[in-house]
Amino acid sequence: MSQVAALYIVPTPIGNLNDISQRALDILQQVDLIACEDTRHTAKLLSHYQINTSTWALHDHNEQYKSEQLVKRLLDGQSVALVSDAGTPLISDPGYHLVNSCRDAGIQVIAIPGPCAAITALSAAGLPTDRFAFEGFLPAKEKARLDKITYLKDEPRTLIFYESPRRLLDSVAALVQVLGDDRQIVVAREITKTFETIHSLPAAQMLAWLQADSNRSRGEIVLMVAGYRSTSEDELSANVLRTLTLLCTELPLKKAAALTAEIHDSKKNALYKYGLEAGL
Ligand code: SAM
Repeated sequence: MSQVAALYIVPTPIGNLNDISQRALDILQQVDLIACEDTRHTAKLLSHYQINTSTWALHDHNEQYKSEQLVKRLLDGQSVALVSDAGTPLISDPGYHLVNSCRDAGIQVIAIPGPCAAITALSAAGLPTDRFAFEGFLPAKEKARLDKITYLKDEPRTLIFYESPRRLLDSVAALVQVLGDDRQIVVAREITKTFETIHSLPAAQMLAWLQADSNRSRGEIVLMVAGYRSTSEDELSANVLRTLTLLCTELPLKKAAALTAEIHDSKKNALYKYGLEAGL
């Protein structure tokens, strides 16, 4: 049975070949055509699962031209799956132009959930996950990289970057330079593969740890950085915040902040500001 004529966005494993859903495999088996970044790379996955569907190269350099041809096929009633070399297509990978063209042409686009290095790394990093900003790759040139980090200096959300092993040290050095020694950094390496490691340290210590052994920068890397926290928040100890949180269950924030400041001899305004930000 073939799939309904639509563009299917199909995530593929980021290392461990078992990380692909049954639904993704069914779609790859049943569509008329699989558009992929590199046909030889995708052939390995397809042969592992004994899937014989034809493949078609769609990469950054030919995406516009190839998208037009794929849209024609889809309008003719064919079904197409889009995959990238690894993970979720369009996430630092080709496909944006194709999806946009399909939506403009009224073609259904169906996304299948699946592996993504950024989300997998974040879920195990131990950094706040309630709000995060995915920033793709940092610029390769030093000045542009420093400018980008400076732009993100006061960003309160957890930052996620993709990184190449060749540039990891330079990027972490730039993070130390702009964000200071103490900002928490997590390096997630080779996720789902044999040499998977997830290491978390304050920025300056992370730089020293990476410099001590080049093996620690090898392979595929997701670099994560704790978001900016205001000094007032840092200055408030866990004990003080506990009192504030308890008092807030019975009193308005203003009163709770004033009483907490009195009890702990701390700053009323900082407590009030913290309470507002934390939604107490
Ligand atoms: N679309 C993919 C996804 O959904 O994760 C990302 C493609 S991007 C071109 C490739 C980058 O993703 C790598 O340079 C690395 O930063 C990250 N990456 C991919 N697989 C990874 C893995 N197994 N462990 C750590 N990082 C990985």
